[in-house]
Amino acid sequence: MRALLSAVLLAALAAPGTAAQDTTAVRFGRLIDGRGGVVQDAVVVVHGERIDHVGSGDKAVPAGAKLIDLRPLTAIPGLVDVHTHMTFYWDRSPGTRPWAQLGTLGAAVTVFLAQENARKTLEAGVTTVRDLGSWEYTDIAMRDLIHRGAMIGPRMFVAGYGLHISNAPPRAGAAPEPGQCDGVAEVQRVARQQLGAGADWIKMYGSTGSDQDVTGFQTFSFEEMKAAVDVAHRAGKRISIHSYGPDGARDAVRAGADSVEHATDMDDETLAEMARRGTVYVPTVEHNRYYIAHREEFGYDDQVVQRLEAYVQRNLATVRRALRAKVKIAMGSDAVFTGFGENARELERLVEAGMTPAQALASATTTGAALLNQGDSLGALAPGYYADLVAVDGDPLADVQAVTRRVVWVMKGGAVVVDHSAARPARPAAPSP
Ligand SMILES: [Zn+2]
Repeated sequence: MRALLSAVLLAALAAPGTAAQDTTAVRFGRLIDGRGGVVQDAVVVVHGERIDHVGSGDKAVPAGAKLIDLRPLTAIPGLVDVHTHMTFYWDRSPGTRPWAQLGTLGAAVTVFLAQENARKTLEAGVTTVRDLGSWEYTDIAMRDLIHRGAMIGPRMFVAGYGLHISNAPPRAGAAPEPGQCDGVAEVQRVARQQLGAGADWIKMYGSTGSDQDVTGFQTFSFEEMKAAVDVAHRAGKRISIHSYGPDGARDAVRAGADSVEHATDMDDETLAEMARRGTVYVPTVEHNRYYIAHREEFGYDDQVVQRLEAYVQRNLATVRRALRAKVKIAMGSDAVFTGFGENARELERLVEAGMTPAQALASATTTGAALLNQGDSLGALAPGYYADLVAVDGDPLADVQAVTRRVVWVMKGGAVVVDHSAARPARPAAPSP
């Protein structure tokens, strides 16, 4: 804590600039800048969609600037959730189940209805997502609509169709699913097609495991993974490989994946290799805990819940080992259906696995931003960064639930997108439990 305070003086030296009409000053009781600095009585001066500078006290408020006073709340950088499925929408119609309804509503209707997922994601303090798998490019549509200001939501980095192996019986005359590919040549073609469609990332399903299935049998071979990695990297893009089990994860890491999703039971050599290469681990522990908590919606019986629970424990154990091996870990919710709005709950699982609240916050800010190759514009509160600010009630460095449960106000790119500051109950004298 004491080391963190050293940045206060530097930040306070920043002189207030002359206020233009689109300058806003936002005041907080305290600010955590995402780069190790804490500023008391903080003022964030926002010019357009970017942060101009961070200062402290009355003198830091530029004359003529629009003022938003959120004291005594604490500011943190807008969170980055590096694993969502924004277009997995369920309308909760009686007699329907989320997975069974998926894909039946039509692409345009889905994009429209999935705005609810996008808004709930902002409510969780998440202003940027990496969306890992969709269909009919509904993810690209959402990304572009949000980018042009026609839809309210987090900025999205998307993958189009996730690459997967043949997993269905042949049907005469039917074209293969657009994400399906077997063998190096088909992997190259389908990966290139996603980039051609405008995907920011390649997503590859390197093992079985999804929904109530927590098996982790490797699907693509090392050579196929390497082919997808090469297509992505030659185009200046990055690739995420899904693996529920250790075998697919080992080959994904050796093949050069930028991140590995979910994986449990990774061996020590794989963890050491990830630390050496800087491969990011996105454990998504909360994803399977979410299924357990929402078992009625999904229709999961006791047997399914027991399997999910066992997987959650193995997943947590793997996070603990990855932490000891100094593997980079990023927050990914794997949010689907009714999980939006709870995106940041993964941070509670990361703390449960041994992270400090500060480390957990870094996994959802600087580490996520770096994975997206956006480390110089997202994940921190500093001059030139996007004005993605989240106000929380409580101390995020002492209690991670301040981040996961008590988001009060959110600004994304200089625009206020969530505001419960008026409805906030009177602050108790002592910190709430
Ligand atoms: Zn996923």
